[in-house]
Amino acid sequence: MERHARRIARVQARLAALDVHALVVAPGADLTYLTGYDALALERPTLLIVRADGPATIVAPLLERARVQGEVLLDDLAVVTYGEHDDALVLAADRIGGAPGSVVALGDTMWTSFTLGIQRALPDHRWAVASDIIGPERVVKDAEELVRLRAVAAAIDAVHRRVPEVLRAGRTEQAVAADLATMIRDGHDEVSFVIVASGPNAASPHHEPGPRTIEEGDVVVVDIGGVLDGYCSDMTRMYAVGHAPPEFLAPYAVLERAQAAAVAAVRPGATAGEVDAAARDVLAEAGLGDAFVHRTGHGIGTQTHEEPWILGGSTVALVPGMAFSVEPGFYLDGRFGARIEDIVVVTEEGVEVLNVVPRDLVVVR
Ligand code: ZN
Ligand code: ZN
Ligand code: ZN
Repeated sequence: MERHARRIARVQARLAALDVHALVVAPGADLTYLTGYDALALERPTLLIVRADGPATIVAPLLERARVQGEVLLDDLAVVTYGEHDDALVLAADRIGGAPGSVVALGDTMWTSFTLGIQRALPDHRWAVASDIIGPERVVKDAEELVRLRAVAAAIDAVHRRVPEVLRAGRTEQAVAADLATMIRDGHDEVSFVIVASGPNAASPHHEPGPRTIEEGDVVVVDIGGVLDGYCSDMTRMYAVGHAPPEFLAPYAVLERAQAAAVAAVRPGATAGEVDAAARDVLAEAGLGDAFVHRTGHGIGTQTHEEPWILGGSTVALVPGMAFSVEPGFYLDGRFGARIEDIVVVTEEGVEVLNVVPRDLVVVR
């Protein structure tokens, strides 16, 4: 069976098992995952309807018919097109069908206008979120997805190796970020984000590169990511310009140990919470627990942030094929901050670390 058909079949099995009548998704990662179709998110709805019974249906604007036929990879698919004067959401509701009281799972990020239109047309149905159905499927990557995740990880590794070419005192964060975006574009299809956080700005985890001029003695967080063949990279390394502040070195050594401990905790059967705790305990023992203000990681695939969440207390059990970041950090307001981030995959034996560039502080001149 073709892989998208296999995914539809698994979703249908889950719908049946959970007594959910249908899954409805709009353009975005779920639609691409299930059909291969990277549809335009337009005000004219494109909706995939998967019922527990019968073939999947795509409701699409007539003017997109050629793209649907060319890009959807399912043989067993009913295509319903509509014209400019038709009510697409009423048409979709008709295809969803089901008795009053049926549960329908709607895409997590579906536009409110679509959601409300479908709900108005099916006033006695009940509603759930699509991630309840499709999340457990997407979270385990198949062999082909892992090949792409390895390739995109290698592409971002290559960019980190080149950071010393463009990072130096006297340049602004924005100028360095623009150069890094060009390098990311070299090895990826698109740039997802570029974080260059220097000196005190490094204390803000999602700092937007700004006009600050980088100075001798700054530590700099470089957190970058892009998309290649539909799959995302996301990787952080730490740099110091000329030299690091002496008081940075001890906490940075703790962070390296914390990140390595979390990676070492990754294996089938461990929980996401145990991976988080492995990093957090090392930082807390060194008095940096309060400075680690975010979860340890997030799943990655066709989206930079997706399930599983590597969150304190999570009882989600790791299984082979899960891919996620391990990215502990510490952030000390007004002084500096640091984060080390790799993408890892759970294997039968334990863990595969996709990013290979050394995690030591890189001193640039
Ligand atoms: Zn982030
Ligand atoms: Zn990142
Ligand atoms: Zn990340």
